[in-house]
Amino acid sequence: MTQRLVVIGNGMAGARTVEEILARNGDFTVTMFGDEPYGNYNRIMLSNLLAGVESEEGIYLNDLAWYQDNGITLNAGVRIERIDRFAKMVYATDGTATPYDKLIIATGSYSWTPPIKNIHNPKRGFHQGVFAFRTLDDTRGMIRYARDHERAVVIGGGLLGLEAARGLQNHLSDVTLLHAMGHLMERQLDEKAGHMLQASVENKLGIKVITNAMTTEILGKDRVTGVKLADGTVIPCDVVVVAAGIRPSTQVAADSGLTVERGIVVDDQMRVQDEDDIYSVGECAQHRGNLYGLVAPLWDQAKVLADHITGRDTEAAYTGSKLSTKLKVAGIDVASMGLIAPETDDDEVIIYNEPKKGVYKQLIIREGALVGAILVGDNSKAASLIQSFDRVQALPEERAELLFDIGGPAGEVKPEDMPDDAQVCNCNGVSKGAICGVVNAGCKTVSGVMDKTRAGKGCGTCKPLVQRIVEWAAGGEAEEDPAASWYVPGVPMPKPELMAAIRKYELKSVSAVFDKLVAGGEHDAKSKMGLASLLKMMWADQYVDERDARFINDRVHGNIQKDGTFSVVPQMKGGVTTPAELKRIAEVAERYNVPMVKLTGGQRIDLLGIPKEQLPAIWADLDIPSGYAYAKSFRTVKTCVGSDFCRFGVGDSTALGIAIEERFQGLEGPGKMKLAVTGCPRNCAEAYVKDLGVVAIDGGKWEIYVGGAAGAHIRKGDLLATVDSAEEVIRLTGRFLQYYRENANWLERTYAWVPRVGIEKIRAVVVDDAEGIAEALDAAIEEAVQAYKDPWKERAVPATPGQFRTSLPLTVLPQVPVRS
Ligand SMILES: Cc1cc2nc3c(=O)[nH]c(=O)nc-3n(C[C@H](O)[C@H](O)[C@H](O)COP(=O)(O)OP(=O)(O)OC[C@H]3O[C@@H](n4cnc5c(N)ncnc54)[C@H](O)[C@@H]3O)c2cc1C
Ligand code: SF4
Ligand code: SF4
Repeated sequence: MTQRLVVIGNGMAGARTVEEILARNGDFTVTMFGDEPYGNYNRIMLSNLLAGVESEEGIYLNDLAWYQDNGITLNAGVRIERIDRFAKMVYATDGTATPYDKLIIATGSYSWTPPIKNIHNPKRGFHQGVFAFRTLDDTRGMIRYARDHERAVVIGGGLLGLEAARGLQNHLSDVTLLHAMGHLMERQLDEKAGHMLQASVENKLGIKVITNAMTTEILGKDRVTGVKLADGTVIPCDVVVVAAGIRPSTQVAADSGLTVERGIVVDDQMRVQDEDDIYSVGECAQHRGNLYGLVAPLWDQAKVLADHITGRDTEAAYTGSKLSTKLKVAGIDVASMGLIAPETDDDEVIIYNEPKKGVYKQLIIREGALVGAILVGDNSKAASLIQSFDRVQALPEERAELLFDIGGPAGEVKPEDMPDDAQVCNCNGVSKGAICGVVNAGCKTVSGVMDKTRAGKGCGTCKPLVQRIVEWAAGGEAEEDPAASWYVPGVPMPKPELMAAIRKYELKSVSAVFDKLVAGGEHDAKSKMGLASLLKMMWADQYVDERDARFINDRVHGNIQKDGTFSVVPQMKGGVTTPAELKRIAEVAERYNVPMVKLTGGQRIDLLGIPKEQLPAIWADLDIPSGYAYAKSFRTVKTCVGSDFCRFGVGDSTALGIAIEERFQGLEGPGKMKLAVTGCPRNCAEAYVKDLGVVAIDGGKWEIYVGGAAGAHIRKGDLLATVDSAEEVIRLTGRFLQYYRENANWLERTYAWVPRVGIEKIRAVVVDDAEGIAEALDAAIEEAVQAYKDPWKERAVPATPGQFRTSLPLTVLPQVPVRS
C-alpha cells in the first residue's frame, strides 16, 4: 500500500533524499514542508550569488515544476511547529495538521549569533544593517542594503565569513573581516596556512583582516554606524554580516519529545533514536556524536536513508563521512581535508612552503594513506588529493608527485581506475557512475553533463576531472560544447559567423552588435572587450569606440599595477634608443619622482608607479609614442645586435626588428603579440619562443617561427617559412598576423592557436595562398596599419571627462616597492 511520507525541511538534504527515493521507485505519496517560500535551491551557491557570478535562476536545484511532475505536495513558506509521534501527525503554523506513515526531519541549521550588545532590535530581529548569511532572503537583503552603503564588517573568519567578505566587495568598497581566533579558518588550516591566507586576502583582495577580534557591541541608534571590539577599537561601518557559525535546527524535534543532544540523534540508518518511523538527515542530524556542516555527508546520508526506507537495502548503513572543503573565492586558492596536524609520531608530514608566492601545501600520510591535506595558494592538485583522501588510494612512492606535476600528469586520477561510485563532485554529490550514465544516454558535451548532473557546479574544483571522465566515457566521441566555440560568451556565434553578421549588418560598435545579434539585446559585460577588439580589427578607423567597452588599461593606455598606479612605457623600437631620448626619459622620471625605472623583458624602459591623473603630462613631457605595454595588441619586437656589431651575426636583426615594429605598432589582436628578430641561430633575442620569431641563417636567408611562448606556457614556435629577404619577412609577418587576428578566439594566444589550427594549414594559407585569400589578408593588414594613431595623443583632448581623474582609492593599498 502506498505510504504517506512527510518531509520537514525543503533544503539540500530533504530534497535530495526525496530525489533518491524517487530514483528507487519508492511507493510513497510525498508531502514536503519548507519554511522558505521557494523551491529547492543550492545553498552553497549563495556565496556565488553574493559575489555576482551566479544569478538567482542559476541556483535552483528543483523548481516548482519538479514537485508537480513527481506528484509531490510542496508547502513552501509553511513551518512545522510540532510532531505528534503517537498520532503520527505534523502540525504547521498555518493551523494545518498532516498525517504521515514515515517522517523525515531535514531542518538543517540556523546562523548562530554571538552575544553582542545591540545586535538585535527589540522589535524587529536584527538591528537595521545587520545580516546573517544563510538563506536566499538573507542574501537578497544583504545585496539590496550593501548597494546603497559603503563600509561593511563581517564577523567570522571561517569559510562562510571569507566568502561573505569577498561577495560584499562586489557591492561596496570597504570590507573588514573580524575573526575572534588567532588565524583564519582555524578549523581547516594550521597557523602557518592561516597566516598565509590572511596575507593573500589582505594583499590580493584588499580586505582588511583583524584576528583576535572580539566584537562586543553594535553601534548606532536607528541603524548600524559601527562595531566596537573588546579592546575598545571602533570600526565605523554601515553593514554588518554575522558568519560566526551555525547551530542545528532541532527545536521541532526537541519540542516533540525526540532525542536531541547537539543534534537530533540518529542511528546508522538515519533513524531517530527509539523511533521506528522517524528519520533525520542533513545538518540537523547527529550521527555517532558528529554533526556535519557541509553537503558531501548529506549525499551519503540521503542514499542510505533512501535504500532503507524503500526496502531496496534495509541494512544499508551510514558510517560517517570524511570532510574536505574548498574556499569559493576567485583568486584565493584554499582547500583542506582531514587532519590539519599530525597526531602520532609515525605520521608522515610533507610540507612545501613558498611564502613570497603565498603557496603552502601540507600532507599528512598515515600507513601509506592520505589522512590530511592543506593547500593554500595553489589548488591544482585538490581534485586528485580529494580522490586519494576519500578512497584511501595507494600513494605514489615519490610523494612530491602528489603536490606537483613532475614530468607529466602522473599524479592525475585516471577515469578508468576509478570505481563507479567514486564521488567526483563533492559539492553536489555526483559520482563517476552518474556522469558516465548521462554520457551513455547520449549527452556528450562537458557543459551538457554538468547541467544534467550538476557536477562541477559548486566550488568548481572537480571540473577538470569531470571533463576527463566525459572524454573517457564518450570514448573519443566527446562533442565540443557549442558555447565553447562562441567568440565571446554573450553572443551565441562562432567567430566566422559573427564576423559575417557584423559585415552584413555593418555593425560598427559593441552596443550595435548586442542590439542586433543577441535575442533581447542584452549587453554582456564579459563580452565587451573581445567584441571591441574584433570590431577594431574589422573596421579599422571606421570602428565606433565606446569607452565602457574597454578595460581600464585600454581606457588610459597604460598597465594598471597592483597599487592602482600605472606604468608608462615609451616606444623603443627594436630596443634601440638614443642618448637624447634616454636623457629625456631620465629627466621626466626625476621630474615626476617616478618610484621605479625598470628595463622590461621586451627591451624597453618602464616608468612604474604613475598616478592616473599624471599620465597626460608625463606623456607630453616624454614626447615619445606609446610603447604598447598594455592591451591585447602588438607589443614589441625584441632584437639582438645582429650583423652590425656581433661577430656571429649573419643578418641585420636590429634593422629588421625596427622595421617590423614600425609597421605593425599598436595592432589590435585576440591576444598580445610579442615578436623577436635574432641575427643568427644562437638566438640571443629568444626568437624561437615568440608569437612570431625571425632567425637569420646563412646565405642571407631568414627563418620565420610562429606560435612560440615563454611565459606561463612554454613552447618552441613552428617553422612557417624560410625566405630570402627582409621584405619577404615583413610581408609574411603581416599576412600571418592578419590571419591570426581573423581566426583566433578571443584571448587565444598564438601558442594555442597555431597548434589548434595546425602549422601545415597555416603555412598553406599564409605562404602558399591555398585558399586564395592572401591578397585580402595583405589588404586588411595594410588598412589596419594606416589606421594607427598614437593613443597617448589623447592627452590633448581626453575621451571622457574622468579619463585621467585619479583612480586611487582613499585607503592605502600595498605599495610597489621603491628600489634605489
Ligand atoms: C553561503 C553558504 C555557503 C556554503 N558553502 C558550502 C560549500 O561550499 N560546501 C559545502 O559543502 N557546504 C556549504 N555550505 C553548507 C551547506 O549549504 C549545508 O551543509 C547544506 O545546505 C545543509 O543541508 P540541509 O538540508 O541539512 O539544511 P538546509 O539546506 O539549511 O535546509 C533546511 C531547510 O529546512 C527548513 N526548515 C527548518 N526548520 C523548519 C521547520 N520547522 N519547518 C519547515 N521547514 C523548516 C529551513 O528553512 C531550510 O530551508 C554553505 C552554506 C551557506 C549558507
Ligand atoms: S643571436 Fe647571433 S647575431 Fe644575435 S647577438 Fe646572438 S650571437 Fe650575435
Ligand atoms: S610575469 Fe608579468 S604578470 Fe607576472 S608578475 Fe611579472 S609582470 Fe606581472
